[in-house]
Amino acid sequence: MSRAQPPIQSIAVIGAGIIGLSCALELADRGLAVSLYDKNDPPRGASWAAAGMLAPAFEAAVEPGTHPRLFELCDTSARMWPDWAKHLEAETGQSSGFVAGPSLAIARSPEQAAFLESVRKRLSDHSLAPAACLPRLSEIEPAATPDACAALLLPSDGHADNRATLDALMIRAQAHPNLMLRHGEAPLRMNSGALDHAGHDATLIASGWQSGQVQVDRGGETVALTLLDPIFDQITAFGGQMLAVAPVANGPRLTLRCGHVYIVPKADRIIIGATTEPGRALTKTEPDAIATLHRQAAEICPALADAPVLESWAGIRPGTRDHAPILGETGVSNLFVATGHYRNGILLAPITAQIMADLIADGQHSDLAAAFAPAARFAEQL
Ligand SMILES: Cc1cc2nc3c(=O)[nH]c(=O)nc-3n(C[C@H](O)[C@H](O)[C@H](O)COP(=O)(O)OP(=O)(O)OC[C@H]3O[C@@H](n4cnc5c(N)ncnc54)[C@H](O)[C@@H]3O)c2cc1C
Repeated sequence: MSRAQPPIQSIAVIGAGIIGLSCALELADRGLAVSLYDKNDPPRGASWAAAGMLAPAFEAAVEPGTHPRLFELCDTSARMWPDWAKHLEAETGQSSGFVAGPSLAIARSPEQAAFLESVRKRLSDHSLAPAACLPRLSEIEPAATPDACAALLLPSDGHADNRATLDALMIRAQAHPNLMLRHGEAPLRMNSGALDHAGHDATLIASGWQSGQVQVDRGGETVALTLLDPIFDQITAFGGQMLAVAPVANGPRLTLRCGHVYIVPKADRIIIGATTEPGRALTKTEPDAIATLHRQAAEICPALADAPVLESWAGIRPGTRDHAPILGETGVSNLFVATGHYRNGILLAPITAQIMADLIADGQHSDLAAAFAPAARFAEQL
């Protein structure tokens, strides 16, 4: 599919999380003049708060209401990550902390075991099919609890250090000749019914859970983007709390998941996550929630019981009703959106940048991209 419009030569990108940075860099690489705005310096949104799992496999076990092509999007992006990380590292000399799979999922109840089996069955034809591995669990991950009743090795699922990745993206952005970083909010204005894109040809909204709250001056009155296009009403906050503990002797080597709890070993710390709290724009952690996560992690991996807590934090995922991002042009001419990545924004950064740059710079929309466009979504709500 192609987009028949005059070419876009300059763009304001609003939000310098992993989505805004990745899109801004890809657009700048394709020759557009890009201004990248963030109201916080340094940006500390969901991209900073995440665990960095690159985990498409669980999206294959589609919950009712989930976008039917979300797994395909996640799987495509997971395959892009190794080269994307290599390119970023080569350009900046900064590691993204990318580690290829496998990761490990274990079950400690019949319900959890049934869920793992559904993931295994759905991916049995996949080139990176998960393998049931309970008999070899103590050899694959000696730190895992011996009371697991099922275990699945997930070769498709790796992880990255999202904070290191953000630093590398920011270093590239600062050095890019086509990209200007701007601190603050973009001065967007409506003039005679048309959006003036802060002096650019177009605007890309990549402001995470706050995308609908980006402000526009309409004849002296300040209005939120939700008033210009109801698609922005579809983005909601999903709070999440996490902690990091110090590395311990006999600690986990692999990313380990059980139920809603996951443990992600990084070079210098072990991340334990996460709560998922719909509608909560959390700014700080709650001691009970952090203590519960730590206890649950120790049930999965007993060596973590006495691991000193290094840090705890809260973040806000940009969610949508079908757990999939909104990627494309809104109902306002040359106003684009890339947000709503929910629990997969780190994973989905490479494919999001490609989809948005194909559309904005080259006027092209693949069949997969079209499935996530605003026009294809939530028709019953809008
Ligand atoms: C606890 C937790 C764990 C997670 N774990 C994972 C994981 O393991 N793997 C994974 O793939 N994903 C994970 N995620 C999800 C992932 O973090 C998000 O999907 C992703 O970071 C969203 O990126 P973003 O760039 O859209 O948003 P953000 O990183 O939130 O960036 C948005 C930016 O927009 C800026 N902004 C907002 N409004 C304005 C404005 N008006 N003007 C200018 N700037 C503005 C903000 O300051 C912010 O910097 C997790 C999220 C959380 C909270």
